[in-house]
Amino acid sequence: MSQFAPQSLAKKPMLVKKIVVANWKMHGNLKQNQALLADYVALLSDLKQSQVVVCAPYPYLAQLQSLLQHTNIAWGAQNLAKNAEGAFTGEVSAAMLKDFGCQYVIIGHSERATAYCESDENIAQKFLQAKQHGLTPILCVGETLIEREAGVMELVVGKQLDTIIKLHSAAIFADSIISYEPIWAIGTGLAATPEQAKAMHKFIHHKIASLDKDAASRLKILYGGSVNPQNAVQLFAVQNIDGGLVGKCSLESQAFEKICIAAELAT
Ligand code: PEP
Repeated sequence: MSQFAPQSLAKKPMLVKKIVVANWKMHGNLKQNQALLADYVALLSDLKQSQVVVCAPYPYLAQLQSLLQHTNIAWGAQNLAKNAEGAFTGEVSAAMLKDFGCQYVIIGHSERATAYCESDENIAQKFLQAKQHGLTPILCVGETLIEREAGVMELVVGKQLDTIIKLHSAAIFADSIISYEPIWAIGTGLAATPEQAKAMHKFIHHKIASLDKDAASRLKILYGGSVNPQNAVQLFAVQNIDGGLVGKCSLESQAFEKICIAAELAT
């Protein structure tokens, strides 16, 4: 277990009911981002019950800070280093993200886990770094198609959560975000059905609640994987689905607006 004391967990409760995270992945440039952010600000300024978060590539965090700082939209990064500081060429620390006003950070996205061989242990250390620096981690968990077809999806997701629980305790999930992202649904156009998502969100909630009721009550569980304006209404209506992590549709302002309105109306 880490030396990280539970009282150092961010105490700020997440008052909003739903959260919609835009994951821009490795898309955009200064000019395109400026136009997209202007659309976001104009289209999303009336949201009251839900929180929108934009996660952009590192070089654009200063641009997000400058264009979003007086709006209702928060921002964050798509990754962070597992270490606090040191000789780690090419890495970006939690404290550096804080310097650019980030409040959130995506951790363990399957595109990173697959392409850069991120282990569950590395992901757990990154989660701890985020919490120690007051960033809200958005932890991605999910199974492959082969694992779903074999019926072991809960075992897989349970193991991903266990690595973090072992490093600290379930208390670390208070005021954190888990995003259930079945790998077969990411970028494929084939979202999980509301029933599939409901079962997994229930499993995640119960797993944390069985260890720490307070942490479970302060944890948000998002769904990610081909969320679009058509399926968002049904998905966000499901119990324990507290919003979405949106890739492709976050790059189209009008589609993203519809998804955010679905979240707002579901609250
Ligand atoms: C994602 O980036 O995590 C994601 C879910 O992407 P998409 O919405 O394109 O499937």
